[in-house]
Amino acid sequence: MSRPQLLLDGVSRTFDGFKAINNLSMVVDKGELRAVIGPNGAGKTTMMDIITGKTRPDSGKVLWDQRIDLTRMDEADTARLGIGRKFQKPTVFESHTVEDNLRLALKGGRSVWATLFHRRTGPENRRIAELLDLIRLTEARHRPAADLSHGQKQWLEIGMLLAQDPELLLVDEPAAGMTDAETMWTAELLKSIAGDRSVIVVEHDMEFVRELDCRVTVLHQGSVLAEGSLAHVSAMPEVVEVYLGR
Ligand code: ADP
Repeated sequence: MSRPQLLLDGVSRTFDGFKAINNLSMVVDKGELRAVIGPNGAGKTTMMDIITGKTRPDSGKVLWDQRIDLTRMDEADTARLGIGRKFQKPTVFESHTVEDNLRLALKGGRSVWATLFHRRTGPENRRIAELLDLIRLTEARHRPAADLSHGQKQWLEIGMLLAQDPELLLVDEPAAGMTDAETMWTAELLKSIAGDRSVIVVEHDMEFVRELDCRVTVLHQGSVLAEGSLAHVSAMPEVVEVYLGR
C-alpha cells in the first residue's frame, strides 16, 4: 500500500498581491518518482521553495511522513529531515576530483581540509565506489570535476546529494543542456534512484518526462491543473490549451 512521504494541503503564497501558489494540494508517496510540469510562471520553483523551507506559505500545510509539519521549517531543518535539492545549474567543486567531490558530500559540513586529509574508512570507500558506479563515473574518479561534460557534472551532483542519504530528492530541470544520450541516461538514473527514495523532477523537456514514465502533475497559475500519466494529462483539453494557447 502506498504511504505519503509529502503532502501539500491547500498551500498558497502571494508575492506583492500576485498568487504564485494558489490553494495547491498534492501528495507524493514514499519511493515515488513524480514529474512536475507546467508553463513558465506556473509556480514550479515556488512550490520547491516551499517544500524545502526557502519560502514560507501564507496559508495551508506541508506535512512530511504523515506527521511532521514542515510549514514553518527553514532549509537547514528540511535538509536534516532528508530533503535534498538539486538546482538546475550543477554546483560541484571544479578543482577537486570526482571522488573527492563525493567524499566531501559524504562528510557534509566538515572542512575541505579535514575531509580530504583524514584517514579514509572502508565503509566510506565502499559507499563512494557504489555511488561512482551508480552515476557511471567510476572511470573518471581521479579526474577533476572541471574536466567532466555538463551531463556528467549533473550526475556527479546527483551522486553528491545521494551521499547525504536523502529520503526525498527535488531535481530541477536535470535534462537542460544535455545531449539526447545523456538525457535518456539521466531518466534511467532517476528511475533507479526512486523506489528507495521519493524523487520530484521539475522538467520542461517532454521527451525526458516520457522517458521517466511516471505520474505527472501539471501546474498552472499556482494550482494543480491535472495529474496522471503523461499520456492521460497530455490528452486533456485544458492541458493542451495551457501549453498551446488553444
Ligand atoms: P515557474 O518555476 O513555474 O516558472 P515560479 O514559481 O518561478 O514559476 O513563479 C511563479 C510566479 O510567481 C511568477 O509569476 C513569478 O514572477 C512570481 N514570483 C516568484 N517568486 C517571486 C518573488 N520572490 N517575488 C515576486 N514574484 C515572484
